[in-house]
Amino acid sequence: MDDTTLKEKLQLTDEDIRKPLPKPTKWSQPFWEGTKQHKLLLKRCKTCGHIDHPPYLYCTECQSDDNEWLEASGKATLYAFAVNEYGVPFPFITDLPYVVALVDLQEGPRMLSNIVEGDIENLKNGMALEVVFDDGSPEFTLPKWRPVND
Ligand SMILES: [Zn+2]
Repeated sequence: MDDTTLKEKLQLTDEDIRKPLPKPTKWSQPFWEGTKQHKLLLKRCKTCGHIDHPPYLYCTECQSDDNEWLEASGKATLYAFAVNEYGVPFPFITDLPYVVALVDLQEGPRMLSNIVEGDIENLKNGMALEVVFDDGSPEFTLPKWRPVND
């Protein structure tokens, strides 16, 4: 079902089918500027080396606010996933079925995201993934993941 059909059938407003977007904070803004340029940036503590994702105001390991941004490799493994097939909010109905996943980045953090591309039936925990950038809205580019074909 495309957006127009859905909208007419259910008599929805534009607001009803608008997807929620990220709400950057001053400490996560560089992450979103990075994705816009198709770079996956991570915030690393310069005191202890810990990487927090989502980026936080200070290091959650040692509370230092001395940090730097590094560009991640874009490599990850699939930790866990769920396939959404029904019962989602209106803005996501046209995406069904879609995959919500926990992805372990090579650099350490675990990220909540989506798996796109590839066959859902072939997804396996532990499989290799690589980042893809979804320019789906003019305001934000979202990092998503796809299986690495080897
Ligand atoms: Zn630290």
